[in-house]
Amino acid sequence: MPILNSIAAAAEHLAIWRRDFHRFPELGYEEYRTSKVIAEKLRGFGFDDVQEGIGQTGLVGVLHGREGPGDEAKAVMLRADMDALPIREETGVAYASENDGIMHACGHDGHTTMLLGAAEHLAETRAFDGTVYFCFQPAEENGGGADAMIKDGLFERFPCRAVYGMHNQPGLPVGQFSTAVGPILAACDEFFITITGLGGHAAEPHDCRDPIVCAAAVVQSLQSIAARRIAPRDPCVVSVTQFHGGDANNVIPQTVKLSGTVRAFDEDVYRAIYAEMERIVGQVCAAHDCTGVVDGGHVYYPPTVNDAAETAFCVEVAREVAGDNAVSDALPISMGAEDFSFYALKKPACFVMIGNGDSALLHHPKYDFDDAATPWGASFFTRLVERALPLT
Ligand SMILES: [Zn+2]
Ligand SMILES: [Zn+2]
Repeated sequence: MPILNSIAAAAEHLAIWRRDFHRFPELGYEEYRTSKVIAEKLRGFGFDDVQEGIGQTGLVGVLHGREGPGDEAKAVMLRADMDALPIREETGVAYASENDGIMHACGHDGHTTMLLGAAEHLAETRAFDGTVYFCFQPAEENGGGADAMIKDGLFERFPCRAVYGMHNQPGLPVGQFSTAVGPILAACDEFFITITGLGGHAAEPHDCRDPIVCAAAVVQSLQSIAARRIAPRDPCVVSVTQFHGGDANNVIPQTVKLSGTVRAFDEDVYRAIYAEMERIVGQVCAAHDCTGVVDGGHVYYPPTVNDAAETAFCVEVAREVAGDNAVSDALPISMGAEDFSFYALKKPACFVMIGNGDSALLHHPKYDFDDAATPWGASFFTRLVERALPLT
């Protein structure tokens, strides 16, 4: 069974919706317009309930099947993310971002639209027995919007037995799907390091303690954590991505601020990385007669772990929609991270990759979601509901 006919017929207006979201991207927890547009559409489809303001700007649409509401055992949740990134768009498309310096460079405009496509179809057919919760979450990129919605009572207010989500993947052909059982995406975290020396005149460095030279040594030394301290069988990444210090060419500054990200799959590896980071920062700074403070753990996303039974089910559904050869159940692990992981800690869950074809990579200023993928994703979500909650 390929793309559902009615969804194929909807492809044109789905593309218009997606490009509208693309044109007006919003950062995490600022998705006011986006969530308003989604709520209006869900109400227009005739949803039984739409609740807004969950986890700040998140919302959930409630749709009951032909037989009326389902309890937790007869309810599933489908999730899409809504936020954009602080990137200046360079696609040159007619519907490019009108919000300067913000763009949908991760395809969350497409994720939202695929879920709306399934919502529109299922609201019309109601060809399922139970309840479907359509969860549109804020702030996936670095705000932990999933966690915010859960802390706001998501699963108490919308009790369900499983959660499903999808992300587009550049490089995977449009019309193809890929997933795997177990951990598929890494845990991630942010760290901040403040190095303090003694500022002064650049012409008299001997009277100063230069935090720039010290910070450069710290950055070099941190490379040895992944390369020389963590076993090669344990995947991990330690990346310094920001280095800030100094305001004038003739002044040695007082402080330098470094920050970056840590990725790993294993809790023990995580702890080992931070212990090593503390040790390196402390001792390298001491060698330079400076002091260093490590601050981490502010935005921690756990690893995304797919439930075995739910993954087998999603693979079956995807094969029904796209064909046996278009679906892989052997997605390689990625050091990328996803806050979908928070749902998977609470409920049996599966996260599926959908092909975005030969596009620029995620988070690149020339990236764009491929509208041709939308009917595939909407059909997948639709068949998933029809099979997870079958009419008897
Ligand atoms: Zn992203
Ligand atoms: Zn994303």
